[in-house]
Amino acid sequence: MQTPIQIDSRFPQMGTTIFTVMSRMAAECGAVNLSQGFPDFQAEPVLFDAVHRHMRTGRNQYPPMAGVPELRQAIVDKVAALYGAHFDAESEVTVTAGATQAIFTAIAAFVRPGDEVIVFEPVYDSYVPAIETVGGTAVFAQLKFPDYAPDWVQVARLVTPKTRMIIINSPHNPTGSLLTAVDLEKLAELVRGTNIVVLSDEVYEHIVFDGERHASVCGHAELAERSIVVSSFGKTYHITGWKIGYVVGPAALMAEFRKVHQFNVFTVHTPSQLALAEYMQDATRHLGLAAFYEEKRDFFRKLMVETPFELLPCRGTYFQLASYRVISDLPDRVFAEWMTREVGVAVIPVSVFYADGRDDRVVRFCFAKKEETLIAAAARLRKAFVKPS
Ligand code: PMP
Ligand code: GLN
Repeated sequence: MQTPIQIDSRFPQMGTTIFTVMSRMAAECGAVNLSQGFPDFQAEPVLFDAVHRHMRTGRNQYPPMAGVPELRQAIVDKVAALYGAHFDAESEVTVTAGATQAIFTAIAAFVRPGDEVIVFEPVYDSYVPAIETVGGTAVFAQLKFPDYAPDWVQVARLVTPKTRMIIINSPHNPTGSLLTAVDLEKLAELVRGTNIVVLSDEVYEHIVFDGERHASVCGHAELAERSIVVSSFGKTYHITGWKIGYVVGPAALMAEFRKVHQFNVFTVHTPSQLALAEYMQDATRHLGLAAFYEEKRDFFRKLMVETPFELLPCRGTYFQLASYRVISDLPDRVFAEWMTREVGVAVIPVSVFYADGRDDRVVRFCFAKKEETLIAAAARLRKAFVKPS
């Protein structure tokens, strides 16, 4: 018998992403799955028909590396209309295989071994592995429970000559907090005169509540000059499985991004890009998203009031954080697994988004679900946690 191959694992300690773990457990236990962030309702058939039409009319070969011109133009037009920023469709926008690839590619393009990248905890789970894959070091700033606002004095202390990138995410997953125009101004002051690239993950840009406006880096002229801004059609059009997103940024940064992108994925699914370009023409679709999800948020919060969970503010995204302090003192991961198995509602423990496993006894619920799904989940929570009077 041959000796087994020895693998020097790049990530000896790495487990499977929490979203896969909890969704799998939800399926195994027959739990209502409010863990991984995806809608359980359909997008509009007109979008599917458009993909099919483009397939049937023969648009099935490689599109240009940066994306089909129609889609790039639609993106540029949307960004101009919303944020007053004028990007060039030819050199300043690239269509990606979802935001995950966009983030990974941006990090690979700009971060070298030994470089530091500042991220904010709780931090979306793909950032740090991407930084470490290219030999960078993640440096952690804190968004503190319970309001999860950034502390720019702390961030300033973390900046060193090795800082190559700062990654921000607003609206923020998992907390539902927002960065404001004032935050962007503070960030601009901090990076002025440095070579720091800003990577701004804005995949929930259209899901901002209570009349607030999304503070996009695209709309901050000074920051936009040094930023790659990421968005995702998965979030905006209820098609997370299509894995199509995009980045915008100044030509010099985009040229570097594309050097990696071209050998990483090269390009993405032609008929879907063409269909999205058409679908984007009706701006009410993305402009209506905030009201659509605000109604779901309010519906879910109202249901949750009848349970002992303490709801944290939710200003954007389709995630609702809740403290379970009055229910249990189990660690959040154990609590989430127990809820999935015993109560039949799957959630995401928030400690997984901290390098040191900080545990504020908070879990994340995804409310991008049909009303009947949210009602079913709430009924199970009431049954488990509310004593009949
Ligand atoms: N960033 C954040 C903050 C997200 O929540 C997600 C996915 N939900 C992504 C990036 C990845 O998006 P995509 O599915 O388009 O890769
Ligand atoms: N971003 C989604 C979430 O936060 C999940 C994406 C994934 O499963 N990788 O739930």
